[in-house]
Amino acid sequence: MPALDLVVARPEGLYCPAGDFYIDPWRPVDRAVITHGHSDHARVGHGHYLAHRDSGGVLRARLGEVNLQLLDYGEAIVHQGVRVSLHPAGHVLGSAQVRLEHGGQVWVASGDYKLQDDGTCPPFEPVRCDTFITESTFGLPIYRWPTQAELVAEIDAWWAANAAQGRCSVLFCYAFGKAQRVLHGVDPAIGPIVVHGAVEPLNEAYRAAGVALPPTRRVGEGAPGPALTAQDLSRALVLAPPSAQGTPWMRRFGAYADAFASGWMQVRGTRRRRGVDRGFVMSDHADWPGLQEAVGATGAQRVIVTHGNVPVMVRWLCEQGLDAQSFHTEYGDEDVGDVAPAAPVAASDLAVDEGPTA
Ligand SMILES: [Zn+2]
Ligand SMILES: [Zn+2]
Repeated sequence: MPALDLVVARPEGLYCPAGDFYIDPWRPVDRAVITHGHSDHARVGHGHYLAHRDSGGVLRARLGEVNLQLLDYGEAIVHQGVRVSLHPAGHVLGSAQVRLEHGGQVWVASGDYKLQDDGTCPPFEPVRCDTFITESTFGLPIYRWPTQAELVAEIDAWWAANAAQGRCSVLFCYAFGKAQRVLHGVDPAIGPIVVHGAVEPLNEAYRAAGVALPPTRRVGEGAPGPALTAQDLSRALVLAPPSAQGTPWMRRFGAYADAFASGWMQVRGTRRRRGVDRGFVMSDHADWPGLQEAVGATGAQRVIVTHGNVPVMVRWLCEQGLDAQSFHTEYGDEDVGDVAPAAPVAASDLAVDEGPTA
């Protein structure tokens, strides 16, 4: 008799029959293992949550007082005979791959992950397994990220050039993960750093977990400390979520330069559609070489693809001689889904010479 699958797809989410629990379920269930705090993976309404220790602050802030059990990386518990442990996914603070061991099989459900080390969470750690469940958000050959050092140098140069011209620099980026990655990397000597009210609670969660972030300032009513002057703001870097674009909150920054940070900035037309001066290619998901490297490092002979460019990824896996299939899931795309291309992307869509020449 063939061994039973450790994870199957159910209408509520990815389900472990042997342990009777779910991984990142999208409908309310009794027991949920949560890979990370992004809203499409960590939803309200479950009876019991198991997550990494560093996800605790974000999950409580987002979900309120829930029944939450926290583990360290590598720490294992046994639930109904299934050994469960969490391992770094390198995606955002507290992000974890879930390793399941039962009946002589090892499965790993990776949630979202990236291989680049950005200094704000432990880097992705390959875990040997028989079956690997992977995302494929950027599972197309055109997606290749700059290194963290290249990315940070580009942002610093843009900010410094604007500051030299007396213009505020507004960078739109997702509030959980990307904003802290920018903060951790940029040079705070260039000018003051202002954050939107949606960003600061996440900064606090990172600082509480021991991640070094430079001082950040708030503006507007109720902001602590002395108000920033127009002179201060003319040299400032402002980090705001995409939803702040076009809101009255922006008016205080005058004739600012703006930019958008997303993996989708690698696709032609994204920057223009978003109506910003500059696009930075920055993602907290694995790029195409990263997905390939991650799959290879697990040694898995069977791979199951969840969200993203599923057919392309499955075809590539089959070409490698692996047993590949997909699970239908309801994970969204926190990587600024509203700028993601609506139609399938081809190599000819690669953004080239699109930004300003300066
Ligand atoms: Zn995520
Ligand atoms: Zn996801």
